[in-house]
Amino acid sequence: MHQDAHDPHARRAGSAPAVLETTVDALMDGVCADLKRLAAIPSIAFPGFSPEPVLQARDLLVALLRDVGVADIGELNLADTAPVITGSLPPPTPEAPTVLLYGHYDVQPPGDERLWDSPPFEPTDIEGGIRARGIADDKANLMVHLGALRAYGGRPPVGIKIVFEGQEEYGSVFDDYPPTDPDLFACDAMIIADTGNIRPGTPTLTTALRGAAEVFVEVRTLGAAVHSGEYGGAAPDALLVLVKALATLHDLHGDVAVEGLRREPWHGTTLTDDEFRELAGIPGDTPLIGSGGLGERLWSGPAITVIGLDAPPVDRAASAVVPFARAKLNLRVHPRQDPKEAQAALVRHLQRLRPYGIPLTVVPGDAGPGYEAATDGPAYRAARTALRRAWGSDPVHSATGGSIPLVNGLAQAVPDAEILLFGAEDNLCGLHGPNERVLLSELRGALLAEAAFFAEYAATFRAGDAR
Ligand SMILES: [Zn+2]
Repeated sequence: MHQDAHDPHARRAGSAPAVLETTVDALMDGVCADLKRLAAIPSIAFPGFSPEPVLQARDLLVALLRDVGVADIGELNLADTAPVITGSLPPPTPEAPTVLLYGHYDVQPPGDERLWDSPPFEPTDIEGGIRARGIADDKANLMVHLGALRAYGGRPPVGIKIVFEGQEEYGSVFDDYPPTDPDLFACDAMIIADTGNIRPGTPTLTTALRGAAEVFVEVRTLGAAVHSGEYGGAAPDALLVLVKALATLHDLHGDVAVEGLRREPWHGTTLTDDEFRELAGIPGDTPLIGSGGLGERLWSGPAITVIGLDAPPVDRAASAVVPFARAKLNLRVHPRQDPKEAQAALVRHLQRLRPYGIPLTVVPGDAGPGYEAATDGPAYRAARTALRRAWGSDPVHSATGGSIPLVNGLAQAVPDAEILLFGAEDNLCGLHGPNERVLLSELRGALLAEAAFFAEYAATFRAGDAR
């Protein structure tokens, strides 16, 4: 069980305002050292990579959890899925709430290592931070959870459940698992630490995630390619037919022109156009597409992207009418629109088109729901106070375009739990790209925020106004 009250490491943090800050500052060297140990392990849970490092990362985390007093550590082993580490600390008092802490210990492959300024699995100090693959996404956030437990000497004022996933980046059946075993995930609030601040130093609660769906569209116009001189002009060119169809997906401004896709004003914070250009690598003289605020275009409205096209490559193009062409479309939808409904709207739009009278074959692909948090409960109130304390200003609400499929599974499993998304990443941390880094200011802030959240949230329940 946990360390006893005489343990010299046990601190009653959070009782006096400045104590927690001092405690966290004293923890940072150890947190950074363990973060580097963790980030030195190439725990890539993708096919074709050795599974051994994934298990090494698991072992290290189990040891760190044990060190901080989590006793009943277990693991969930699902088919073709790296182990999910579980564990818990019972609530210290009967009225204290339970908080589930989620993070993942697998990382993206490093990509082209020549683009890195230091080897991706040799954690390297840089100005204000540390660089390594997976150090922000998501190993820093695992250390935030461990650090917040350390701040209380392993005896936080709330009950704890641990869910550390090992195959988030590649994906697994774990996404759909929580509703089948709701007791394992039962809690009052969850901290899904797989995000971070919209920009360094701006405390951010991520409150919305867009849903996603795929649609394939193809057209065959001829049995085989035929001479473009002899037949071109009357024989229909499949590529031209397809391009004509794709051109109807957006209007002249670049706004999505498909009926039935939900679009609403975005009420949270957004990036500035300049920040967005820098992040996306869009030169200043290239206009952005779409109208309205960036939040609406990126987070609370639809987007359709042509992500693949089967057509003859230019360098091998024959002078022939193309008989067959195919495109893969990626649709992003409003957090609360059913992605299947949105996907059906896009399928309907394409099926109705018949460019030059030629029908298209339209096939729906995968679809995954988005998520929008209810932000008016006691956990959100406590989190806003905690984030303000950690970063010195009121937190903003933001969204992310990337999906976290597990969030929906967790929301279904524990519908009454409040789900909080914050963490040590920031929009400039380079996740999934070369030279990924975490800033120590963000790591400290997220750790302090989580530790302060435990105290704030527990106090709400003591005061009896939690529900
Ligand atoms: Zn992640």
